[in-house]
Amino acid sequence: MKCKICGNRAVIKLRAHNISLCEEHLIEFIERRVERTIKEFRLINKDEKILVPVSGGKDSLNTLFILNALGYMVEGLHINLGIGKYSEESQKKTENFASRYNLKIHILQVKEILGYSTPEAAKKLRRPACSVCGLVKRYLFNKFAYENNFQVVATGHNLDDEAATLLSNILNWQEGYIIRQNIKMDSTHPKLVKKVKPLALISERESAAYALIRGFDYIREECPFAQGATSIQIKNSLNMLEEESPGTKLRFYKGFLKQNIIKREEKEIKLKECKICGYPTTRDICTFCTMRERLGSKID
Ligand SMILES: [Zn+2]
Ligand SMILES: [Zn+2]
Repeated sequence: MKCKICGNRAVIKLRAHNISLCEEHLIEFIERRVERTIKEFRLINKDEKILVPVSGGKDSLNTLFILNALGYMVEGLHINLGIGKYSEESQKKTENFASRYNLKIHILQVKEILGYSTPEAAKKLRRPACSVCGLVKRYLFNKFAYENNFQVVATGHNLDDEAATLLSNILNWQEGYIIRQNIKMDSTHPKLVKKVKPLALISERESAAYALIRGFDYIREECPFAQGATSIQIKNSLNMLEEESPGTKLRFYKGFLKQNIIKREEKEIKLKECKICGYPTTRDICTFCTMRERLGSKID
């Protein structure tokens, strides 16, 4: 197997793109694809300050690294969820990565903000840890970005994540979620920062190969609370289809993006400001403040 660009030994075959590549040209291929995605969907500009939520996993590290390499103004934000050894490891790997590549990372501790770690809060609220975690992350990433003058939050969602979410939403006809799932979510409120997914057209396998070749030391374990089961089944099903017909995931997701742009304009959700924290919500008091009240933690 030879690299299609230089003829040297190829390390990976990308059937969806009908191409085999050596290490050097895989790196170039991925970075160019991210750049093209950014341009095609007008995700970000060079004059915007971009915040990348960094978990310590390959996709978020890749996002931070690639955006920086492409000349964008990026800083990372790591939220320590307080999930024992897993969170310690994640924070350590994130910090090591930042210092190795001279990137700026901010760290927040959920325990300091809520008075409880995520698992403790979930237990107290009798809610699944993942739903508490998702809520805390969404809220804090936006709040941190807004308060520190970032114009964009760029997450590390890859093609497999996005195609699986889309398929799952369609299987259950979650219309609200389908409308809100996009590669770019423009700000619909002054305190709601724009969100983009620059890696959304890069597959899980491509992302893993990129991190591996670059020699990134990322956290490989899944969060011990990961619900996984359903989303893993859906990812496996998509991989089976991809195996039979390479490019399925890309066609599925890109086709959706083209239609979604039209649909979104029709249905804008009306947002008000939370009576406690002032951040946008569809209710009187936002879900984050509701959770804090139920936990009895101090509100600043
Ligand atoms: Zn090559
Ligand atoms: Zn609130």
